[in-house]
Amino acid sequence: MFTYSKRDVSPSRHMEPYSHSRLSIYEQCPHRYRLRYIDGIEMDAMSIEAFTGSVVHGALEHLYSRTGGGRSMEPEELVAYMRGLWDELFRDSIFIARRNASAAEYELKAEAMLLAYYRRHHPFREGTTVGLEHELRFSIFGTREHDMIGYVDRITCLGDGVYEIHDYKTGQRLPSPADLRRDRQLALYEIGLRRSLPDVKEVQLVWHHLAHDRELRSERTKGELEILESETSALIESIEGCNRFPRRKGPLCRWCEYSGMC
Ligand code: SF4
Repeated sequence: MFTYSKRDVSPSRHMEPYSHSRLSIYEQCPHRYRLRYIDGIEMDAMSIEAFTGSVVHGALEHLYSRTGGGRSMEPEELVAYMRGLWDELFRDSIFIARRNASAAEYELKAEAMLLAYYRRHHPFREGTTVGLEHELRFSIFGTREHDMIGYVDRITCLGDGVYEIHDYKTGQRLPSPADLRRDRQLALYEIGLRRSLPDVKEVQLVWHHLAHDRELRSERTKGELEILESETSALIESIEGCNRFPRRKGPLCRWCEYSGMC
């Protein structure tokens, strides 16, 4: 198994590697990008949706580190672990943007998602887990080289050079097949995985949409990965050439950690 690595939740600085989420923040609102990645303004505020997602990810990481190789874990233990994490990490700066919603409601949703996932995948013998919250560092190439970083929720090996890249989603939105084919995050991870491991022959991209108890899959051709690399490099080069970072006001401002100062 690869070495474990925890997500770095500190704000990235201008010269730090690019990630899918960093690029997404620029696409959503250049001003938010500037505050976070150039000015380095660290905010403790976090939406309840992001907090719920981080706790569910922590519980699933614990589940896969405790199962396999003849070991098992009861669903009650999984829920108790999640509730322990919730209580330990919850703080006043977690905000609820949706009207008439409560933190308790989100905690119950987290429990329901984990139990549905447990029922669907027990006894967790779908391939060999080779990485959990695995940090991938790699380069992509455009007119110059760009350092990339990604944290893969889970990597499994099915044998004979066949790998799966798994990602857990806790949001309500279910993507269409066309959305999956355009998804940048896991395809970038595939580029990183292929550049990290010499034996990779085939990669399956797997999204677990936990709120819907759905598993969605896709693959990328070599040509599609080349186009993605070229488009991502061009985006990075346009960010690095940017000297205006305009505000992009919209409905998502309610979920922005900088909304109180913007
Ligand atoms: S509150 Fe809205 S406009 Fe301001 S930084 Fe956040 S996303 Fe951008």
